[in-house]
Amino acid sequence: MTLMQTYAPAPVVFVRGEGSALFDADGRRYLDFVSGLAVTSLGHAHPEVALAIGEQAARLCHVSNLYSNALAPGVATTIDRLIGGGDDPAGGQVFFCNSGAEANECALKLARRWAGGGRHVVVSTLGSFHGRTLATLAATGQPAKHAPFEPLPEGFVHVPFDDLDAMDAVLDPARVAAVLVEPIQGEGGIVVPSSDYLSGLRRLCTERGVLLMCDEVQTGLGRTGRWFAFQSQPVLPDVVTMAKALGNGMPVGACWASAEVAAAFGPGDHATTFGGQPLAMAAARTTLAVMAREDVPVRARRAGARLRAGLGALPGVVGVRGEGLLLAAQLRAPVAADASNAALALGLLVNAVRPDSLRLAPSLLVDDAVIDEALALLGRALATVLGDAPRAAREAAT
Ligand code: PLP
Repeated sequence: MTLMQTYAPAPVVFVRGEGSALFDADGRRYLDFVSGLAVTSLGHAHPEVALAIGEQAARLCHVSNLYSNALAPGVATTIDRLIGGGDDPAGGQVFFCNSGAEANECALKLARRWAGGGRHVVVSTLGSFHGRTLATLAATGQPAKHAPFEPLPEGFVHVPFDDLDAMDAVLDPARVAAVLVEPIQGEGGIVVPSSDYLSGLRRLCTERGVLLMCDEVQTGLGRTGRWFAFQSQPVLPDVVTMAKALGNGMPVGACWASAEVAAAFGPGDHATTFGGQPLAMAAARTTLAVMAREDVPVRARRAGARLRAGLGALPGVVGVRGEGLLLAAQLRAPVAADASNAALALGLLVNAVRPDSLRLAPSLLVDDAVIDEALALLGRALATVLGDAPRAAREAAT
């Protein structure tokens, strides 16, 4: 094996996808409720996105950022409108890159450049996930992930999530440049904060002259039932990062900032060879156009309500966390890894986001029949691992 062993051995090799389904080399069909971890929000091989990528590949894949291209400004304008809620521009600017970690790297550098004068600390939250580069790992609030790579870059402080008093205590305006927070913690287990948390953060950051930066890499672009999860509150962050769903599988990341903050960057301050290149922008332009036409936030809310209700009724599920189509089923025992393996064997992809929680993040275009089919498969998987064999057998027979 010549691939570095950074991922656990793969149980299945997929060769084709279509909508909510993946197929292995033998033609076996699996329902994908992982979506590349919230990436393929329009499902696999979406025909319009595939066509846009193919046509652009035949015309012009790449030009250096020494020159401009015809697509990036339009995609940036669309993102700015979505940050504003869908219709009105938010009045910001966008830097394009290739991943979530890179979008957050851009945000971290921008915060330092904007604050200046020795104010460089970024406060993030325990349980958060912001990426695997050294700086985004330092921002990630999971000490166990830090240990093998220390010393990490200096200037990162973590406080408990959903705790405004703890944030208040560390927001020293002489040292702190920014707060970086996921509106809903994804890798931390789909943790939804109290309804006043983001507005409380906005108030504190404004009072102290500190940037509020929302990491919407997992939550962004319709998944939680809004274009961005921060829109559950009447707040506008200073910086918003996104990636995953932006190219529906084409690697595209973006860091949006208010015009005042974005102005801190000048030519030469930040760059990336592939950022905003025509091929990625063609994928993003069409992905965003289809998302708008299909009104994916509304679809995520409707389908999410059905999935949530169905999950709550499954054996061994004692609670459901999340919003829209970013959900976690809390199990009555720490059997999530076994349950995800059992589901895979039955033809359903879900992922163990915690030892006792399964994450479900299907395509935002998923239909009711596929949701019901997935729920039936998951019910059988849970009955198997939780020892309800008679029920599993009964369901297998149906
Ligand atoms: N931020 C959040 C909230 C994420 O969920 C992730 C990935 O899971 C990242 C950042 C890192 O994104 P990437 O893996 O594209 O670098």
